[in-house]
Amino acid sequence: MTLNKAVLDIRARQRIKPSVLDKPSAVWTGVDLFNGREIKTLTIIFKTSGCRWGQAGGCTMCGYVYDSAHTAPSPADLEAQLDRALRKADGLDEFMLKIFTSGSFFDEREIAPQVRQNILRRLADDNRIPKVLAETRPEFVTDEVMDECKSIPGGTKFEIAIGLETSSDLIRKDSINKGFTFADFVRASETAKKHGVTTKAYLMLKPPFISEAGAMNDILRSVDDVAQYADTISINLCNVQRGTFVESLWQKGQYRPPWLWSIVEILKKAKLAHPDLAIMSDPVGAGSKRGPHNCKKCSYDVADAIRKFSITQDTGVFDELACDCMELWKKVIELDDLTYGSTITD
Ligand code: SF4
Ligand SMILES: [Zn+2]
Repeated sequence: MTLNKAVLDIRARQRIKPSVLDKPSAVWTGVDLFNGREIKTLTIIFKTSGCRWGQAGGCTMCGYVYDSAHTAPSPADLEAQLDRALRKADGLDEFMLKIFTSGSFFDEREIAPQVRQNILRRLADDNRIPKVLAETRPEFVTDEVMDECKSIPGGTKFEIAIGLETSSDLIRKDSINKGFTFADFVRASETAKKHGVTTKAYLMLKPPFISEAGAMNDILRSVDDVAQYADTISINLCNVQRGTFVESLWQKGQYRPPWLWSIVEILKKAKLAHPDLAIMSDPVGAGSKRGPHNCKKCSYDVADAIRKFSITQDTGVFDELACDCMELWKKVIELDDLTYGSTITD
């Protein structure tokens, strides 16, 4: 059985619940880094017909496909989703807008060109937004679309975000089933650059079948490989989402999300090697069994330090961290190469 077939079989057992189409899947405010300073953010996850790669099987860790709409929203629905999202920013004087679709913003099957252009034009007219970020798979990054992003939003900076996950084609194919190559990412980043659009690369720590130490080395190598093609690197920590291949491994004790000590170590080393590169990580679900975790005592403090580092880029925030579980983590690093990432200890 191929990995894609295994993922698809699990997807086939899930149901996408009917939901209202003029409301986004999610909207929230937060903070990010912009030109070396903290800026407020508004994140919108548009509800679209969803990621076509995910619908055909897709990535082993991805449960976002279940956030998509059961029938395709109309152009009016999508614009109403934007209206609702922007209302959340009513009290903000300045914010970065981050656009996700649980798929690709530039996939014209999810967001038709006319709707995309309307959205971009509206954002250009909002002078509270100095930067827009939109996530996409690399195959949808074309000269035509990048030119549109550059020219429509006036002085607004535009960034594309791509879930590259790793620079290793082998890991991306055999652990993640991502369906594109490092060369595809490089082409997209270079196309964007030609049009003055920057690139953010998402990497993913510890996809399935990789040991803790192997996963750490993979990310450190990936940061080195990606640094010249990305203006920002964000390291996602794999968590166990419902209805995914990763969840089926986790239920059998064959997968454990990464330790938070691992990402601390990665951030320290990567920042030392690339002092001028913005390197971030948002430890989503930290401290829970399905999320990245250390022991119960220290997980929340370590996650806070990781968030603080992402905004300050100062590795000094990790100096005071200590916990007894660090010795256990070191033992795991030493031993779990022998188990291919299966759980040695909770
Ligand atoms: S991770 Fe991205 S590309 Fe992969 S299935 Fe999910 S939405 Fe699609
Ligand atoms: Zn601990």
